[in-house]
Amino acid sequence: MSVAPVVLVVEDEPPMQAFLRSLVQGHDMKVLVATGAMEAVSQAAMHAPDVILLDLGLPDGDGLEVVRQVRAWSQTPILVISARGRDRDKVDALDAGADDYLTKPFSAQELMARIRVALRHRSQRQDDAGPVYEVEGLQVDLARREVRRDGQAVALTPTEYKILEFLVQHAGRVVTHAQVLRAVWGPRLAGRSHYVRVHVHALRSKIERDPTQPRVLLTEAGVGYRLVDPG
Ligand code: CA
Repeated sequence: MSVAPVVLVVEDEPPMQAFLRSLVQGHDMKVLVATGAMEAVSQAAMHAPDVILLDLGLPDGDGLEVVRQVRAWSQTPILVISARGRDRDKVDALDAGADDYLTKPFSAQELMARIRVALRHRSQRQDDAGPVYEVEGLQVDLARREVRRDGQAVALTPTEYKILEFLVQHAGRVVTHAQVLRAVWGPRLAGRSHYVRVHVHALRSKIERDPTQPRVLLTEAGVGYRLVDPG
């Protein structure tokens, strides 16, 4: 028998809160609800949920502050639910340690898929080796440091490989330009997101069947990139 995952829903708007609650409960997960930033932090501390769904616009503070406070002591996946057209908020939340975001309006299916990705990454943290990433004819074996496209070995530069490795480790989740920069170049080049764009462009030309229509390494407009979840 498996134990039902616990999802903390942080949302102040009653219709959205009700929608999230019934959706999550309908998938055999337990739900906790917080309607403000302070309540969210105390619920997270008290109940150690498996996933946190976080609205950024809260009546008593910024959801960003919830991300920072929870991240000070917990690695619980945080999925930000944001209103449209506020890319800066999403980027700030992700850079502060949120794992992913969804833009309103979103489908129930999309939300459940993201929750499953978050839960899977959480359980993978214990054994980091991980299986081979395989999507659309692309195979990445991190243990052997091998990349294949339709069975053929792909020659990547060390920088391209580091970017791909970071994306595979975050497969299914969005990563910001700043996160890629930090992971690959370290903190001293913060702000040079054009480095990332140039190398991602080169990487795509090697790993995508049609680099003009990416199917694996997707752009999240105004935010960063997402490597397709292998499922
Ligand atoms: Ca709100």
